[in-house]
Amino acid sequence: MGEAPVEEAPESGKAKAEAAKPETHEFQAEVSKLLDLMINSLYKDKDIFLRELISNASDACDKLRYAAITEPDLITGDSDLKVTIEADKEARTLTISDNGIGMSHDDLVQNLGTIARSGTEAFLKQLKKTDEGEGDPSLIGQFGVGFYSSFMVASKVELFTRRAGEDAGWRWESKGRGKFSIQSDDSAARGARIVLHLRKSEADFLDVSRIRHIVGTYSDHIALPIELLDDGGAAETLNEGSALWTRPASEISAEQHQEFFRHVAHLPGDPWMTVHMHAEGRFEYTALVYVPDMRPFDLFDPARTHRVRLYVKRVFITDECEGLVPGYLRFMRGIIDCNDLPLNVSRETLQHNPLLAKIGSGVVKRILSELDKKAQKEPEKYSEFWENFGAVLKEGIYEASDNRAKLMKLARFRSLTSGENWLSLDDYVDAMAEGQEAIYYLSGDAAAGLDKSPQLEGFKARGIDVLFMTDPVDQFWLPTAGDFEAKPFRSITQGSADLEKFESVEKSDDEAAGEAEDKASDGDMDKLIAMVKLTLGDEVKDVRTSSRLTESPVCLVADEGDVDMHFERLLRQHQQPVTGQKRVLEINPGHSLTMALATMVSSEGASAALEDAAHLLLDQARILEGETLPDPASFSRRLAGLLTKTLGA
Ligand code: ADP
Ligand code: MG
Repeated sequence: MGEAPVEEAPESGKAKAEAAKPETHEFQAEVSKLLDLMINSLYKDKDIFLRELISNASDACDKLRYAAITEPDLITGDSDLKVTIEADKEARTLTISDNGIGMSHDDLVQNLGTIARSGTEAFLKQLKKTDEGEGDPSLIGQFGVGFYSSFMVASKVELFTRRAGEDAGWRWESKGRGKFSIQSDDSAARGARIVLHLRKSEADFLDVSRIRHIVGTYSDHIALPIELLDDGGAAETLNEGSALWTRPASEISAEQHQEFFRHVAHLPGDPWMTVHMHAEGRFEYTALVYVPDMRPFDLFDPARTHRVRLYVKRVFITDECEGLVPGYLRFMRGIIDCNDLPLNVSRETLQHNPLLAKIGSGVVKRILSELDKKAQKEPEKYSEFWENFGAVLKEGIYEASDNRAKLMKLARFRSLTSGENWLSLDDYVDAMAEGQEAIYYLSGDAAAGLDKSPQLEGFKARGIDVLFMTDPVDQFWLPTAGDFEAKPFRSITQGSADLEKFESVEKSDDEAAGEAEDKASDGDMDKLIAMVKLTLGDEVKDVRTSSRLTESPVCLVADEGDVDMHFERLLRQHQQPVTGQKRVLEINPGHSLTMALATMVSSEGASAALEDAAHLLLDQARILEGETLPDPASFSRRLAGLLTKTLGA
């Protein structure tokens, strides 16, 4: 196809009149940056441009097939959907055509001028890495920039397209440097025809054997025929052309899974786990779903939408079927193909379709049982999964009452004693101390040195393990989870610790002697507590002695039934309105500081110093908890006063 006429006779219709001249558009800044990278490409793996273009062609045919269910006219006369590749050695062009849905003028501007997907920030980060020579070119597809990879091999790209059902056709052209142009071209056939003007150095891509090889490697799973036209116009079909999931599991190679995964998932990397299932009986459906081996960049998008595509009798229906797969499995990629739905099912009614809900729960059940198998058989490999997606899977404990028990079994935690290992709740319960009735946990930020929290000291001393709850989602499921194997979950920063009944494993003779000494000063300790309480007044809810502490003199805890301290901080970080709750100050009666203070309580003239000490104890506990001090000036004054006195200055 030659250049479209620049000037056209004005015709009726505004769009026509406007489109007569080629319009020049600028690429979005991010696209320009990406294109620069493509053009100056250092990537070794240039082959992937063909995979990206075939992947797009296949998506476009899927979309047309779906649209034609309700509007058969869109497809009549040209209903054999396929991808065609033509290599013209003389012109040094490689042309990839499809007769799919095509693009309108606005589609072109939108789809081939911007990076419309969310996660642009993540993308830019990746770009920067690539800039610095650390990037992996196969990451390109992840960000929905597959088309732009054409510029790795082409100095100019032309695209002729007509959207199904529309009269107007278009020619898009770009040399990839900042700008592209669009002009009217009514000779364009339905679908898209992409002409790559290859750089001299890339002429190898015109070799038939090379093309055969690339298609065989990357695109064999594509469910459409991919035809290679030779100079004489004879067509050779390069792939099997049947949907991968309809083939027997034993006949699908790891490479085919990998490429299909990349196609449906828009993710690089390999599937970490593959679930290929076929159900017959009450309903018939096939699922081919994958757990990726890396986090998709939009994993924590607030929308939490899953990306499993729904097909009906091999026809793509939608990838936005809410409720088909629950939000806590939104990292899954793949397809579910259902035989029992009518093809003309409208996307709108899918949400509430009871059949789909049943199919979805069948697939979920299978995924969870496969995950369980992996966890049992390959615990180390399972850790990789857990590190990527554990925080997401835990959302299900909160949401999915029917699968809660299974999800709790799948959950893994770090703990006081676990080191770099991941513990299951079963592991924890098996190792519980004699007489231990609850599963103890500590919530907080892993990076903030959770394992150094003073509240852990008493547990450490008694050899009782404490699970670390470091994901924000833990704050949601824990209050609703109830218990595990009849063992309730108990926060160690809340309520009384109740540790006296466990014997200390670390107690030395000296300490035992020290304890006898404490006993003698019980009365004084009570007085100290009363005095601290009086001094701090409204600033605390209560002051009491603690069995939690062995090394630190004080700590803060939430009273039974109050909001967890870590949760309150989390809400504050997310700008949620919180009314700060008063906390309980716990005092270590065995600490030399508190013991010294206790002996001062009855002595004359010590009250001013004791009052300062009471405030300092509270501030110290706040600092240990990672809270900011409400009155740092007073803290500083008191500390300076005290130091001056001890140093005898
Ligand atoms: P992605 O495929 O991940 O969306 P691409 O950069 O490969 O990203 O393509 C961008 C968009 O351009 C596609 O989402 C699609 O809307 C449109 N597009 C690309 N190729 C075609 C085609 N052959 N037919 C119709 N639309 C296409
Ligand atoms: Mg694409």
